[in-house]
Amino acid sequence: MIHNTPITDLKGIGDKTAGYFNKLNITYVKDLLYHFPRDYETFEEPINIKDTVPGEICAVYASVTGIPNLKKVRNLTILNVLIKDSTGGMQLTFFNMPYLKKVLKPGGYYVFRGMIQTRGVAKIMEQPKLYSMEDYRKQTNMLQPRYSLTKGLSNQSIQKAVKQALTFYTFEQEYYPSTIIDEYNLISGKEALCSIHFPIDKEELLKARKRIVFDEFFSFLLMLRKNKELSAKLENKFQMFETADTVRFLEQLPFNLTKGQKHVWQEIRNDLASSYCMNRLIQGDVGSGKTIVALLALLMCVANGHQGAMMAPTEVLAKQHFESVKTYTKQYGLAFKPILLVGSMSAKEKKEAYDMIALGEVNLVIGTHALIQDKVNYKDLGLVVTDEQHRFGVMQRENLVKKGSNPHVLVMSATPIPRTLAIILYGDLNISVIDELPADRLPIKNCVVNTSFRPKAYEFIAKEVAQGRQAYVICPMVEDGELEDAENVIEYAGKLQAVLPEQIRVSYLHGKMRPADKNRIMEDFSAGNIDVLVSTTVIEVGINVPNATVMMVENAERFGLAQLHQLRGRVGRGEHQSYCIFVSTNEKKETMERLDILNKSNDGFFIASEDLKLRGPGELFGVRQSGELAFEIGDIYADADILKAANDAVDDLLERDRQLLLPENQPLKRHFMEMDRNAIDFRTI
Ligand code: ADP
Ligand code: MG
Repeated sequence: MIHNTPITDLKGIGDKTAGYFNKLNITYVKDLLYHFPRDYETFEEPINIKDTVPGEICAVYASVTGIPNLKKVRNLTILNVLIKDSTGGMQLTFFNMPYLKKVLKPGGYYVFRGMIQTRGVAKIMEQPKLYSMEDYRKQTNMLQPRYSLTKGLSNQSIQKAVKQALTFYTFEQEYYPSTIIDEYNLISGKEALCSIHFPIDKEELLKARKRIVFDEFFSFLLMLRKNKELSAKLENKFQMFETADTVRFLEQLPFNLTKGQKHVWQEIRNDLASSYCMNRLIQGDVGSGKTIVALLALLMCVANGHQGAMMAPTEVLAKQHFESVKTYTKQYGLAFKPILLVGSMSAKEKKEAYDMIALGEVNLVIGTHALIQDKVNYKDLGLVVTDEQHRFGVMQRENLVKKGSNPHVLVMSATPIPRTLAIILYGDLNISVIDELPADRLPIKNCVVNTSFRPKAYEFIAKEVAQGRQAYVICPMVEDGELEDAENVIEYAGKLQAVLPEQIRVSYLHGKMRPADKNRIMEDFSAGNIDVLVSTTVIEVGINVPNATVMMVENAERFGLAQLHQLRGRVGRGEHQSYCIFVSTNEKKETMERLDILNKSNDGFFIASEDLKLRGPGELFGVRQSGELAFEIGDIYADADILKAANDAVDDLLERDRQLLLPENQPLKRHFMEMDRNAIDFRTI
C-alpha cells in the first residue's frame, strides 16, 4: 500500500464513511495514520464511592441496591439505579438503555465507570459504562487512544480503521542517517507511528511522541535554513524614506504611541531606508498595539509609490483589518487604496481584484493566504506584513515574499517566547519587542469559578451590557462528537438568550458558518448591534472590539493557558475595566491551580513558563497545545528540549554535508524533496 492509497481501500470504509473521514481532513490512509489521538484513556483502579470527585471520570466497584426504576419522558427513556459500596451510595442514570433494567440485578456487583456529577448535594453518574470485574481488570492500566471525532464516526470505528491501516501500510524506509538516530536516541518512524496510536505504556508513548515531534521540528528547521540561505542579506530594492503622510497620521491619531511602539517604528524606518532588505519580527503581547505600527510601515510604503500586502490567518481578522484601514483612510485622508482578497470571494470578484492588483490600481492588499495564490501578480510589491505569524507555517510567509522581487518583510506575533527559542524559530529574522501596553489600560480582572457560578456570571454580563458594554462567551468544546461545535454554539446561545433580559441581543459565531455570515456577525458586533457573542474559538486571534469588556470561557480547563491568554486578550483593549471569567467543570486541585496562574498574571510570557512548569511531559496529551507556528503536535514550550536537539541535528548535518550529497544522506534528501512538494504541511487553520 503506497502513501496515496485512499481510505476507501480499507475494509469497511465505503463512500459514505469516507465522507465522514473527509470532514476530519482524512482522505488517504496516510492522513489516517497522522490523525493522532487527542488523548489516551486509562482504566484506573476502582475507588471508593466516598473518594469520587465531581468533574472527574472515576471507576467504582459497587453493588446494585433495589430494583432499577424506568421512566419515559417524551421519546427518552430514563433508567435510575442506586448502587453502594462499603463507603457510601450513589445514583446512576442511563438514557435510552431500557434493556439495562433486566441486566442490573439487585445485589449484582459491577465496575461502573463514568464522569461524576453533582445533583444538589448528591453525587451521581450519568451514562456510566459497566464491566464485570474480570473484564475491567483486563484493561486496567492500558492506554486507549481517543480521537477527535465527527458526526457519524465513533472512537471505535476510527480505532479499527487505524489498526487496519497500520497493518497494510508500507512504511517509508528510515530516512535519518544512523548517526542522528543514535545520537538523539530516536525510535524508528514506523515504531513511532504504531505506538502513538496504540502505546503499551506511557514510556512507549513518550518515545513515540518524541520521534514524531523531532521529525516535525527537524523538517521545519531544515526548511528554515534553506530559506535563510536564500534571503540572507538581500539588497534593498525598495529603499523608502519617510514622508509627511506618516507624520500627519501620527499627529491625527487620538493617542500617542507608547515608548515600545515608537522604538519599533524607528527600527522599521531605519530598515526601510538601509541598503539591505528588511526581515523583521515584531513581538508584542496581545493588545500592545502592533497593528498601528504595521499600518505606519505600509503607509510609508505606499507613500513611496509601492504596493503593500498584509496577510492574516483568518478571514474574520483580514476583514477587520480591511475595515479599519478603510476607516482610517477616510477619516485622515491617507494615501491607501486598499482591497480585500479572501478565499470566500466569488471567482468574478477575485478576478477583478487580481486585475486591479496587477495594474497597480490598488496599493494595499489585505487578505488571508488567498494573497499568495499563483494567480495573484503584484505590480510593485515593496512590503509584506503577516499578522499573527505563529498561525502560519514559515512556508506561507516565504510564498508571499516570492510574490514580488524581494520585498521587505514584517511579521507580527503575540507569542511570548524566550530569546533562545526565538533565535531558533525565527533565525532568519531580526526581532523587535513591544514590551508595554498602552498607558490607559486597566488591568483585566479575572476569576476562575465552577459551574455553579454561571447564574451570577450571566447577571454580571447583563449588568455590563446595561452600561453599554459587550461580552463574549466561549462555548464549551464538544467532547465526543454527539453534537457538532456548531449545534453546540447555537444551543448555548439560545439558552443564554432565554435567561438574559429580553432586550439583550445575543448572537453566535462558529467556524462552519459561511464566511459572509461570519463577517456580518463580526461587523454587527463591532458596530455594537450585538451585545453578547457566543462563539467557538474562531475569535481567538486578533479580533479587536475595544467596547467588549467581558470574556467568559466555558470549559476553561480544556484549553492550554497560552490559548486562554489569547482569548482573554480580546477584552481589556479599551479604556473600560474588563473582566475575564474562566468556568471550569472540573474541580480537581491541579486544574484549579493551573487556571489560577491566569489569575495571578496578565503577562503572556510568565503564563507560558508557569504552564510549562506544571505540565510534565507525561500530561502533554490532556490539553490542547498552544499551536505555536501551527506545529501539529510539537509544543515549543513543553518540547523546547526536543526543539534544541533537532536544531543541533540540523546544524551538524548541514555543517558536514551542506548540499546533502553524501550517500548516507540520500534517503533524507529524498524524504524532504517529497515533502517540499507539499510545502511542508504545517497546516494553517
Ligand atoms: P495587538 O497588538 O493585539 O494586535 P492592536 O494593534 O489590535 O493590538 O491594538 C489594540 C487596541 O489598542 C486598538 O484598538 C488600538 O487602536 C489601540 N492602541 C494601539 N496603540 C495604542 C496607544 N499607543 N495608545 C492607546 N491605544 C492604542
Ligand atoms: Mg493583532
